[in-house]
Amino acid sequence: MDPRLTVAIFALGLAFGSFLNVCIYRLPRGISVIHPRSSCPQCRALIPFYDNIPVMSWLILRGRCRHCRHAISPRYFIVELLTAALFLLCYAQFGFTLSAVKCSVFGFLLLGLIFTDAETGAELGNATLYLEPDQIAYYYYAFYDLNYYSRNLGMHMMTSAVTLFAQRGYQFLYLGSCYSENALYKTQFSGAEFFNGIRWSANLDELKYLIRREQQEPRQHLLEAEEYRQVFCDGDLAALAAASRFQVRTK
Ligand SMILES: [Zn+2]
Repeated sequence: MDPRLTVAIFALGLAFGSFLNVCIYRLPRGISVIHPRSSCPQCRALIPFYDNIPVMSWLILRGRCRHCRHAISPRYFIVELLTAALFLLCYAQFGFTLSAVKCSVFGFLLLGLIFTDAETGAELGNATLYLEPDQIAYYYYAFYDLNYYSRNLGMHMMTSAVTLFAQRGYQFLYLGSCYSENALYKTQFSGAEFFNGIRWSANLDELKYLIRREQQEPRQHLLEAEEYRQVFCDGDLAALAAASRFQVRTK
């Protein structure tokens, strides 16, 4: 890691964090993030540039407005520091590359979402993506708000993720979702449930079997595997076909 680049990236992270703070406060309130200039929410005094220096200003003013001493949330310097740390981590992990930029952007948006949730008290959604280059992608989407459920956003993100990673040549994609207590969908099943290609199943032994099987690069369809039929559907192919949401014809 180049020391001068490290300092520059940290400073850039602070600047982006500062802008993110503006977004976190203004976007949920429908205020433009460009205009007007920042002012104290209490006394409305405009904040001069020297009181707007990331992290430093908050520490020097000890978290209070210069004019009315109104408390300024520690969220301001926390978000700035976290964004700078995020940018540095991406640089340390990926070097000075496009991957580092992508990872920074993704993390930046995630930070914005998380702190907007905290600011407004409204629960939004939270997507997490973890990539192992060219091989495996982990994609998690948590949605708390029932509006998202009705808009099928979770499903859209899941299916678009599947298409995207298939096109990019990923061999494995692990999808996960979690739901809040008041999400209707959660009440429809308990614990983990997965789709085995034929029907929904909550049998974790079956899931382990399927993952093991995938790693052996199978050359036949799951239903053609004698072992699978015996262990997981009592050898009764017709009953399994009947339980499927698809029309399955057995010969
Ligand atoms: Zn003030």
